[in-house]
Amino acid sequence: MLWNRLLPNDILRLERAHRLCIKYIQDIPLRTKTDIALNAIGCLSLESEIDKNKLRFFGQLCTVQCHKRFRSVFANRLTAYLTNPSTVEGFIPDIVRILHKYSLFPFLESFLQTGRFVVKCRWKELVRTGIVDFERRSIHSRLGEGDPLTDLVNTDDPLTPCILWQVSALNGHILRQCQSAVVLMCKMFSETYRQYCPRCCVITENRVIHCMFECIYSDNERNVFWRIIIHHYGLEMFSALITMSPMNQACVLFGYLPDTLSTHTDAASMVMLSIRFLHRIKLMFNL
Ligand SMILES: [Zn+2]
Repeated sequence: MLWNRLLPNDILRLERAHRLCIKYIQDIPLRTKTDIALNAIGCLSLESEIDKNKLRFFGQLCTVQCHKRFRSVFANRLTAYLTNPSTVEGFIPDIVRILHKYSLFPFLESFLQTGRFVVKCRWKELVRTGIVDFERRSIHSRLGEGDPLTDLVNTDDPLTPCILWQVSALNGHILRQCQSAVVLMCKMFSETYRQYCPRCCVITENRVIHCMFECIYSDNERNVFWRIIIHHYGLEMFSALITMSPMNQACVLFGYLPDTLSTHTDAASMVMLSIRFLHRIKLMFNL
């Protein structure tokens, strides 16, 4: 099945199952936007994962010793396809399509002309770069200009987990708190509809933002947190943070620092300070 071209409906069904697993293992709401769910854990779409493995297999075929029988079979089928594309189905046309998709076809052309292929580790890096570039362009085209998620989604390296999961991997004792922060982050961008605050009954456009920065019932937690920030970083950092929009303040607490704050702290230190506040907010408001 994997070596025949999957139809759009096949891909869609596989992607749905993949997204469900990604959300389940992070214990985040099922209504979380796909872009943030995948980006938070540093994962590609399933189609890209399948393509990556096909490309690696293709690289192995091109670099295997010439006397191996399956290399001869591969070369013969490749020649047959390039001579008359309509006579060959399955693996060869599929890999040619994928090579074009990630702008890697010139490496096949070079292989056909010279019989030589790039070394294994170089090919692995080229595949990674090609897929990351493709994913980056896809994310940008889906989010569009001005989408607040563009500040949060790591398009430079979509294969690296968010700082919250990185911190939790190094500090197992705060795994639960980090998971709470990931839930808040996902909800903040996914529940963009008007809701009641469960405590003060105010109608709000963004319940996570309200609970973190506006609700009178979180005043005490908030004041404690701001005092911690002033104690660690001073009034200058606090002033810079407090004058940002609530959405941007929240992103800072999740470890996404703008350049103006990165001179005061780094993402991991910021997360270590904010994690208790975020966990408390999640519990208090049952988010
Ligand atoms: Zn409230």
